Amino acid sequence: MNLALWLERAGKSHGGRPAIGYGRRVHSDYGELAERAARLAGALRQRFGLAAGDRVAIIAKNSPEYVELMFGIWHAGLAAVPVNAKLHGRESGFILEHSGARACLVSAELESGIAPHAPASLERLVTIGGAEYAALLSADPIRCAEAGGDALAWLFYTSGTTGRPKGAMLTHRVLAMAGHAYLSEVDAAEPGDPLLHAAPMSHGSGLYMIPALARLGVNVVPESAGFEPEEIFELVRTWPRTSMFAAPTMVKRLVDCPADCNAEHLRTIVWGGAPMYVEDTKKALERFGPRLAQIYGQGESPMTISTLSRQEIADRAHPRWLDRLASAGRPYACVEVRIADADDRGLPTGETGEILCRGDVVMPGYWRDPDASAATLRGGWLHTGDVGALDAEGYLTLKDRSKDMIISGGSNIYPREIEEVLLKHKDVREASVIGRPDPEWGEIVVAYVVGNAERAELDALCLASIARFKRPKDYVFVDSLPKNNYGKILKIELRALDAKRTQ
Ligand code: AMP
Repeated sequence: MNLALWLERAGKSHGGRPAIGYGRRVHSDYGELAERAARLAGALRQRFGLAAGDRVAIIAKNSPEYVELMFGIWHAGLAAVPVNAKLHGRESGFILEHSGARACLVSAELESGIAPHAPASLERLVTIGGAEYAALLSADPIRCAEAGGDALAWLFYTSGTTGRPKGAMLTHRVLAMAGHAYLSEVDAAEPGDPLLHAAPMSHGSGLYMIPALARLGVNVVPESAGFEPEEIFELVRTWPRTSMFAAPTMVKRLVDCPADCNAEHLRTIVWGGAPMYVEDTKKALERFGPRLAQIYGQGESPMTISTLSRQEIADRAHPRWLDRLASAGRPYACVEVRIADADDRGLPTGETGEILCRGDVVMPGYWRDPDASAATLRGGWLHTGDVGALDAEGYLTLKDRSKDMIISGGSNIYPREIEEVLLKHKDVREASVIGRPDPEWGEIVVAYVVGNAERAELDALCLASIARFKRPKDYVFVDSLPKNNYGKILKIELRALDAKRTQ
């Protein structure tokens, strides 16, 4: 079924309930939101002449309009292509061309960067909030288009840390399944509960807009449209029972922000998208109490592979509490997970291999990329490219992306294990471990560290907790680490920097 039916129904049954918050105030109720989505849909189909299945891109920072646009596009039976607002115009141009989007809605401050890179296939570039946008909202509303579960709803472009981004095709069924999984296993929201969009709505946070709306929640957008810890805390104080999605780097910034947060008002901070080190989780737990949950997923199985619940994270008395904190939890009910070797043979419990998953929440393939689709989905399983192990209790622990693994003297070394140890030092703020090519060892372990710890102290820490051969042979102290727009550390760039340094 079409996801937009949820909004159409809510507009009828609960029209007066708040639907969108903007900063501290209510921006629109369900009746208004449903009407705006139906009018936008009317404009897209009748004025722009778009046909079922056509793609419409959105290039915008977080804004209240994001919600009406996504649901308006679905209401019209079209597919949305949300593009990360921080991409370079050239990168956005690639996505516009590759997706074949016929129309693009862009926020005013980004338009001049996009326009020169708009491909010939793009027929309309409309400024969100501008005169043409206002005119779209005066179009006649249409009824919600029929769309089967297999219809394309969202082309989710991967962050492209390994090359050109690929468009994971997310259908209405995939998104509905991911939304239900979130509500039943991560955050059982009640009607009226706020979901604060502290992270980009083009990515993980935007996915959670769907379950929030399904439960008649309030999608709250910060006025800064970015991530400002003080503003986030102010909004938590304003909106009781707030949940939010945050990348681990964001959680860290919240922990370090001295402003008063009123944790009692927080329902859940859901982190995911990158590893969170055990030391950081402990600090977050101290600061916010039992209000943290973890999800592990990727665009191809939209943020739904495994989850570690609030209860498990807060259960300090459990004998395996620390192991659990270091894990990414257990598979969601709707996903099968297996660990396989390079030939796709299943591995026994405890052994490390590639994480594969299967279920209704997995994408049917990549847009216009049959080779990548066949390779990634071979044998009917999504090959995540992540390396990990399942323990006897069914908890999944991620090691690293296979390409980040270091092979030194014939031994496999997973950087994360060393990073976890380095972060135990009180003067280490961030750490990232990579392999440096070496004529004798193949690769040697090198740690990039933000902070001012002594080498000897770091060495001693490593010797106390991990095998000697894993200890970094070199430490490089830096002011910051290269990160992408989602706050993920870019090991590829770090390796390139390291190659330059050691030339
Ligand atoms: P993306 O599709 O851009 O969201 O990136 C997904 C990738 O982020 C996954 O394949 C993992 O490598 C990583 N990731 C996501 N969630 C977690 C998590 N909870 N812990 C560690 N890494 C994660």
